[in-house]
Amino acid sequence: MRSPSRWLSAAVVGLSLPFVSAAAQPAVPSAPISGIRYEVTIDTRTAPARTLRVAMTFDVGGPGPVLLSLPAWTPGAYEISNFARWVSHFAAMSGGKPLGWDKFDYDTWRIRADGAKNVTVTFDYLADSLDNAIAWARGNFVFFNGTNIFLYPEGRPTDFAATVTVKTDPTWLVTTGMKPAGAPRTYSASNYHDLVDMPFFVGQYDVDSTQIANKTVRMASWPKGSLKGEARTTFWDHQKKILPAMGAVFNDIPFDTYTTFIVFDSASGGGSALEHQNSHLGIYTPLLVESILFPSITAHEMIHAWNVKRLRPADMVPYRYSQPQPTTWLWVSEGITDYYSDVVLSRSGVIDTTGFLILTQGKIEETAAAPPVALEDASLSTWIHPTDGTGYIYYQKGSLAGLLLDSLIRDASDNKKSLDDVFRELYQTAYKQKWTGFTGEQWWGAVSRAAGGKSFDDFNAKYIDGREPMPYASVLPLAGFRLKIDTIRVPMIGVSSAPDSSGVRIAQVQPGSPAEAAGLRPGDYLLQVGDIPVRDPSFGEQFRTRYARAEGTKLPVKIRRDDQTLDLQIDVRLTPRTEQRLVLDSAASPKAIRIRNGILKGTP
Ligand SMILES: [Zn+2]
Repeated sequence: MRSPSRWLSAAVVGLSLPFVSAAAQPAVPSAPISGIRYEVTIDTRTAPARTLRVAMTFDVGGPGPVLLSLPAWTPGAYEISNFARWVSHFAAMSGGKPLGWDKFDYDTWRIRADGAKNVTVTFDYLADSLDNAIAWARGNFVFFNGTNIFLYPEGRPTDFAATVTVKTDPTWLVTTGMKPAGAPRTYSASNYHDLVDMPFFVGQYDVDSTQIANKTVRMASWPKGSLKGEARTTFWDHQKKILPAMGAVFNDIPFDTYTTFIVFDSASGGGSALEHQNSHLGIYTPLLVESILFPSITAHEMIHAWNVKRLRPADMVPYRYSQPQPTTWLWVSEGITDYYSDVVLSRSGVIDTTGFLILTQGKIEETAAAPPVALEDASLSTWIHPTDGTGYIYYQKGSLAGLLLDSLIRDASDNKKSLDDVFRELYQTAYKQKWTGFTGEQWWGAVSRAAGGKSFDDFNAKYIDGREPMPYASVLPLAGFRLKIDTIRVPMIGVSSAPDSSGVRIAQVQPGSPAEAAGLRPGDYLLQVGDIPVRDPSFGEQFRTRYARAEGTKLPVKIRRDDQTLDLQIDVRLTPRTEQRLVLDSAASPKAIRIRNGILKGTP
């Protein structure tokens, strides 16, 4: 995220928060604290007011003020949100007496403990952000992320253990990836990173579970009844197929439990989800259930349990919660995660070969439609949400880089090695043996080793660090795929347009075009073309379909210029346009067919 942890959400959630530089780092750390307990109250009184009551209790182990901070962002949602914005009614107490406090900076509270041994701080948290990285409440339901509400001591190690107790209505449910700690509705984490990586559902919703590959797998969905019957059966059928297929890629399933949290809300125009080490939280339009995007997003988020939550770029180990943590590697962490989403769905039989071709072709088209951008640059820039169409292209283009690298490795090793081997090696060396995260040297070293020593310097320079067009024509046939280029004739009027707050505004009029001849000008607002009302920028698609055979006819065009509505006449002209279709290569060699089967079926 947008925060989206997934590109779909870019358009969907679309919060636009200002980019804020890091808060000041205290020169002096907080007084040491221990015995940390958090208590979150959510019930029939607080939830309708969209408020969480939060208490944090701890023992103070030294002199000086206690400095407590909230994170600025949630890992996976690469943007600064400053969760302290939603805090109110902050107070600090010891032995029933209030303690003095002030703000050290905008997300840090300074508490003058004055020798107090045991301190409790409390605050209210406004849960009104329908955003998978934040917190949101309805009358009978709340979800929240630990980053939103769990304060940490500034300048102190993050390896402190803590418990969380949820106080709620006796009939309400509580679901989280945290470990139960014995006492009712009490959970524990052994360090702050785990504590804030396990979101909660509290309230009335559906939850069920099953065992898959010796793991407990849960599904929690709100509102009650929103995912039921055949749709829920299908969800579970997919889970049984994809989890073992993911484990096979990495030779490991690194969690004991996994929970899929889903909020269905028609305010979501699509779907967006955020990954965690043993769960993910998605916010979807109810319409998404029928779509291939539902299993596709689910698989994407689950693969993140390996790729990014455990194996991730060294730039992001450990996470720093107080400031942005940019990396050039989101094309691997997000893009290649998305490649593996398609691959795992194919290998487990959730989609067929046609499904894989459609998903991949969609990525080729979206990459072609975006301005040329280096994958490294797009990865770095996501924190500022670029507005030129490159903001999230590292998902699709990075996924295609994964397909190309996989094809090249398989070709160089006669299909004995693959991108799977790269991930297996790095998962062992940069996560399991020592959690360092991978460097560029390690990544390209592992890619080269899998490919029998072949150098990828040129590939990196052109397509990852560079902006050259992806080498589909030379690489895809190695894996039995081909990009078929058709030239078709489509109707055009010769304007480019973009929506603004007043409508669809003409940005440019192509010289010599029918639009110019008809008198259209930049700055005009398009109201109607032929019989198509122009309400959104996708009217171009409708126009091309509707008037595909209308060469030479005249169409009425209605525009608004200043305060006037004008009726003009425009000629329809057909112009050539190239279309790329991903197909199976009918001339594929036996080797290329084996490679294709290796990718799609996981067979050697
Ligand atoms: Zn993702």
